[in-house]
Amino acid sequence: MRTGYEVGNLLQRHWIKVEHQLKVNSWQLRTLSAVRHCRTAALGGHKSVCTDCGIESISYNSCRNRHCPKCQGRQREAWLEKRRTELLPVKYFHVVFTLPDTFNQLALYKPKEVYDALFEASWQTIEAFLQKTKNISALKQA
Ligand SMILES: [Zn+2]
Repeated sequence: MRTGYEVGNLLQRHWIKVEHQLKVNSWQLRTLSAVRHCRTAALGGHKSVCTDCGIESISYNSCRNRHCPKCQGRQREAWLEKRRTELLPVKYFHVVFTLPDTFNQLALYKPKEVYDALFEASWQTIEAFLQKTKNISALKQA
């Protein structure tokens, strides 16, 4: 069921607040701007005319941003299919590491430092579990 609300419409309606009150970096602002303008006259478009009845229709261009809810569907599928070809024939485990939300602001302004630290801590945790598993396996074999 469609609600009639679209992210682009909400961004358009509240753009002043988005641009001046949200604490977003320039990359996030460009992304939100692309979503805001997706399939509107702002991105241009083309007119089609039915050769039988002469009815004209206008189609506006899409933003093609991977975060856009209007554009992501087909591109997401293509991206997923490409990733599937890269999978190794081994068993995979999904492990999630999170940060307390007190790091949100820091992650916005220093993403490399925050995510480097997160990945380093995550890897150390995984290594510690692997080491513990090896020790348990060794104990069971003894
Ligand atoms: Zn779009």
